[in-house]
Amino acid sequence: MQNFETVIGLEVHIQLNTNSKAFSTEKNKFDLNPNNNISSVTLALPGTLPVANVNHMHKAIKLGLAFDCHINEINYFDRKNYFYPDLPKGYQITQDAQTICKGGTITFMSQGVEKTIRIHHIHMEEDAGKSSHDQSSYSLIDYNRAGTPLLELVTEPDFRSGQEAHDFLAHLQKIVQYLDVSDGNMEEGSIRCDCNVSVRPLGSPTYGERREIKNVNSKKFAKIAIEYEAKAQIEEITAGNTIYKTTMLFDPENGTTRPMRKKETENDYRYFPEPDLPPIHISAQLLETIKNQIEWLPQTLAKELSTKYHVPSHHIEVLTESVGIGKYALSLLSQGLNPKECADLLVLKMIPLAIESDTVLDELIPFEKIRQIINLIDSGKASKASIYQELIPAIIKNKNQTVEELTQNLGILTSEDQSFIDEIISKVLQDFPDKVKEYRNGKTGLLGFFIGQIKREVGNKADLKVLNDKLMSILNSK
Ligand code: ADP
Ligand code: MG
Repeated sequence: MQNFETVIGLEVHIQLNTNSKAFSTEKNKFDLNPNNNISSVTLALPGTLPVANVNHMHKAIKLGLAFDCHINEINYFDRKNYFYPDLPKGYQITQDAQTICKGGTITFMSQGVEKTIRIHHIHMEEDAGKSSHDQSSYSLIDYNRAGTPLLELVTEPDFRSGQEAHDFLAHLQKIVQYLDVSDGNMEEGSIRCDCNVSVRPLGSPTYGERREIKNVNSKKFAKIAIEYEAKAQIEEITAGNTIYKTTMLFDPENGTTRPMRKKETENDYRYFPEPDLPPIHISAQLLETIKNQIEWLPQTLAKELSTKYHVPSHHIEVLTESVGIGKYALSLLSQGLNPKECADLLVLKMIPLAIESDTVLDELIPFEKIRQIINLIDSGKASKASIYQELIPAIIKNKNQTVEELTQNLGILTSEDQSFIDEIISKVLQDFPDKVKEYRNGKTGLLGFFIGQIKREVGNKADLKVLNDKLMSILNSK
């Protein structure tokens, strides 16, 4: 059988987190009672006029700058004319001929491999209302969402698998949160995408005809939909059929796609420049201001953590998961404490505890107490295990008690005098003569076994390093 390659281009809609809507002053909120957040502009009552929201433009520029797009100094809005009940004006205000951002690239990790895809453009537009067709003999329309500011990011057909599309969406989600342009919540529809999918014989220089899966609202679904669609196309081609340009619907229930309408002719949206809004001029100064607002991106944060503080790479992934965590990590590391222990504490203990208790890191443990925890670990006066398992939960639970008090109460300090270990080591070695023999015959992996047995007897009182050294010297001496 012939081998095929899947080709995918994405059209991603990003709902922005501005305060007000794109062209009117009501709040940019739609999870309210239906039709409770609709001004006369949104409803397109006669005589009303749109006013562009400057933050819509600023967020578009910010996203464009993060991806090295060219920002069109002069751009303008167009009308896209079509009739649909959830579009009160009978047209959508969007950008077509001269979009705010052009070109650019996005680099992300997919399954451990760095992948770069090209952006075709990013444009500003408004969202439509929401129809529900799940009633028996009528439909319902909620206009709260109408006029929500969106950015549409259109990629070149540079993805080669559903997994890549998935990993890209995860990356994009993180970036929009870092930039504070959107809450990035895919499950709640803040990022939705149309997936254009085609297949071609491996090595073919031209693309195959594509089908477009509309409105996929999770990265997981994007992967499933693309994989299903590619397989279906390969089966059709292999059976001798032709693929026609078709708009497809994804059914999340059973992970399949089905045709919605065949695109026999291109839709005629009769685009023309929106006469009610002036063209947008973007000054070099504005670009500079917005550029300076971009404080961190995941990759710059990762670089800072690794070059300045030598945080190991497996921790960096967790610490750059969100800009909030990343900034917290930097402020902790800048205190001059042992960076490895700080990173361990955050990744292994504090972040899981914060998630578990739904608390922000800032409120979990005050800096001063973290300093004492790290110093205690550094000093070796208590084992890291007892600090993690006993002391830290106690600190969080007993906010009014000092770290010293809690450490004393828990009795986790290792004794200064470690001579008691000798006795226990000899006892354990006597209990397991066969294992001692095996160890001395080269089965050195048994060291862990001995340590486990000894720790069982001494509990947290032993300094692990001392224990280790003593045990090794006895085992290796005879
Ligand atoms: P339209 O305006 O009909 O939606 P565009 O040419 O603007 O078409 O392309 C829209 C999306 O389809 C882009 O993301 C692009 O990368 C993708 N695309 C174009 N051709 C193909 C193809 N042959 N296979 C997969 N995706 C494609
Ligand atoms: Mg399209």
